[in-house]
Amino acid sequence: MSTSNSEPLTTENEVATCRGCGRALRGKPYYMGGIAYIPETGARAPANHFGGYVCSESCDRNACLEMLSSMPGAGPARRLDTPCEQSVRLNWSRS
Ligand SMILES: [Zn+2]
Repeated sequence: MSTSNSEPLTTENEVATCRGCGRALRGKPYYMGGIAYIPETGARAPANHFGGYVCSESCDRNACLEMLSSMPGAGPARRLDTPCEQSVRLNWSRS
């Protein structure tokens, strides 16, 4: 038997993370459902257009750009496409 020091396979310690910058948020991971909150502000972390939580508008945009760039046949994306743009706008348009 190999005795690697791998993490125990519990979900108890899994937390939500920002898809843009990767930092930990308060709440359950996105795939587990529920709601995540941004620790500093207590505000709800919106979901990115492609899934996952994001903690700021720039993270939201970065996460979209990353996904758009990784699509087959797509070069490095410099701007968001329309659905992404709309999603980001909706997420952060609260005044
Ligand atoms: Zn972030």
